[in-house]
Amino acid sequence: MFPDELRCWQEGLREQFPILVAEPGQVYLDSAATAQKPQAVLDAVTGYLTSENANAGRGTYRWANRTTALIDQARERVSAFLGDPSPSRSGVHFVNGTTEGLRTVARDWLVHELRDGDEIIVPFADHTANTMPWQEAVDLLARQGVRVAVREMPYDAAHDYDTRALRGLITERTRFIATTHVHHVYGGDMNLARLRAAVGPDVVISVDAAQSVGHLPVDVAAMDADFVVFSGHKAMALPGTGVLWAANRRGTRFSPGGWSGTPNTSGIVSLVAALDWLDAAGLARIASWTVALGARLTDGLRKLPAYEVLGCQRSLAADSPVQQRHGIVTFRHHAIGSNDLGFILAAEGFMVRSDGHCQAHQGEKTSSVRVSLHVYNTVDEVDRLLDILAGLDD
Ligand code: PLP
Repeated sequence: MFPDELRCWQEGLREQFPILVAEPGQVYLDSAATAQKPQAVLDAVTGYLTSENANAGRGTYRWANRTTALIDQARERVSAFLGDPSPSRSGVHFVNGTTEGLRTVARDWLVHELRDGDEIIVPFADHTANTMPWQEAVDLLARQGVRVAVREMPYDAAHDYDTRALRGLITERTRFIATTHVHHVYGGDMNLARLRAAVGPDVVISVDAAQSVGHLPVDVAAMDADFVVFSGHKAMALPGTGVLWAANRRGTRFSPGGWSGTPNTSGIVSLVAALDWLDAAGLARIASWTVALGARLTDGLRKLPAYEVLGCQRSLAADSPVQQRHGIVTFRHHAIGSNDLGFILAAEGFMVRSDGHCQAHQGEKTSSVRVSLHVYNTVDEVDRLLDILAGLDD
């Protein structure tokens, strides 16, 4: 599972993260909250700010023109990164993160599209950033006398979307489905190609890709998505960066405006550098690494009776393989509270997320510990974590 070739590749990459090199005793296991930044990203930002910093979309001088060009090129770079099949039609809009991107879809597109009697489907067990905007749009329309029905996305026992049940919810009035690519608590790939096949070609699908961009190859054409939104900071760029990609088809045109307001120029520079870094490292290999680390952690936890790994039903069937998790493993101790476990681990230098995880409807009890891994995490870190957790097993 961890061939020497993959280990050498990973060691070379880990060294490129200054924060990890500076404090080798600390183990960062909270990449689903935000990812660490490689030196190349820091260099790109410093380079930009020390050589050509200016505002974009205005100005006649060299630095301003260069900044405008950088932002235009950044749109093309994002488009290529996402495997955009029709860049001349689609649009890349820079936002400050997934939350703002999804809100923008709701506020600048959805509320204008929905008509009385329409229906939308919302994934209430996903991140609240991907539930609140749709509900708010429907509430706003209700105040104007437009009634839109909100249906709950059905899930199966393994926390995947239940596409069979979903098919039964689709009517001729279903206009929009909000989805997530990789779940932020269970780490499962929500299989959006299968979802599209189940719902047919006409429904507009929005994808929250906050936990997939930067972790695995993301291909908007394969998903057949209409909107894809992600946060730059979770993909190794600076905080305050994000992307809303709109396919602009199925009768939808989405244009939230051109050069209105000052864009986050240095953040966008960092995003391009991060995407370049990720492509050079190889997203398929990054995904293999984090899936393998996640499987190792899940396997280890399943041998410790005090722990329950959430979302593991499918893999608990006798001898079935561990479910592929994109580097996110969430668990509970039967006696130690999750926050207490978080403090115990922090005292040992292990940084994890504990307690609730921003879900509107929890399929399971709220409080748990989430370990989220990235390419800079090591087998040794996972094994040391398991040793500490084993010491708390009884
Ligand atoms: N969607 C998912 C799946 C997430 O995991 C997160 C953050 O944890 C968000 C949306 C919100 O992202 P941001 O805080 O960058 O807007």
